[in-house]
Amino acid sequence: MEKKELLYEGKAKKIWSTEDANLVISEFKDDLTAFNGEKKSSEAGKGALNNKISTELFKLLADNKIPTHFVEMLDDNHMLHKKADVILIEVIVRNIATGSLSRNLGIEDGKVLPFTLVEFDYKNDDLGDPKLNDQHALILGLVDYQDELDKLRRMARQVNDVLKPYFATKGLNLVDFKLEFGKDADGNIILIDEISPDNCRFWDAETGEKMDKDRFRQGLGGLKVAYEEVLNRILNK
Ligand code: 5GP
Repeated sequence: MEKKELLYEGKAKKIWSTEDANLVISEFKDDLTAFNGEKKSSEAGKGALNNKISTELFKLLADNKIPTHFVEMLDDNHMLHKKADVILIEVIVRNIATGSLSRNLGIEDGKVLPFTLVEFDYKNDDLGDPKLNDQHALILGLVDYQDELDKLRRMARQVNDVLKPYFATKGLNLVDFKLEFGKDADGNIILIDEISPDNCRFWDAETGEKMDKDRFRQGLGGLKVAYEEVLNRILNK
């Protein structure tokens, strides 16, 4: 399948149309951004690593009956997937407190949460992705029904129920992650975007070392080595 027309360019990906109106191609870029685009850089090979990691994780989720947009990886930087109408809600799943949860609520960094927390952020760069409750989401018309919000939460928990134990077998703690969902041509809610160290936090189970985009956000260096290590652990079954 060939790229045709550029439909959208985001911070980490370009989306291209194809000859099939229901299928699009994501091109994973090497660009890195943080703090709502204020911090920028680029790391050669990062896009390919995220494409490969996402491919493996989407396959794992499909094997566990979680519907995703994934069709196939085309080459190092390109993924073919279903076209979907994006739901402008970032669904954040947390197993361990860190990042904005610790900052906003004063929960100790590294504290294992008593249960998995699912939060919604409004996917809106101009507003800095603010927190949403269900009423906000309905008033904004981000979804039509409360049932759909419940479904997003349920699906996000299902993803966590697959990924958390999976990463535990790889010696990685799945600390938290951000998911995006969309509606496919039949109106079904499916998991979209990517699942990679750009939108998940992974801590090495032995050393606590950060193996994700926090290496860039916090200026720790060694981002590519960490992403390669995540991919290697996924591939070495
Ligand atoms: P926090 O709210 O602590 O900054 O992020 C929680 C989790 O969601 C982290 O794994 C982080 O990578 C992910 N996340 C939250 N917002 C975004 C976003 O706008 N872009 C990306 N790539 N990840 C996000």
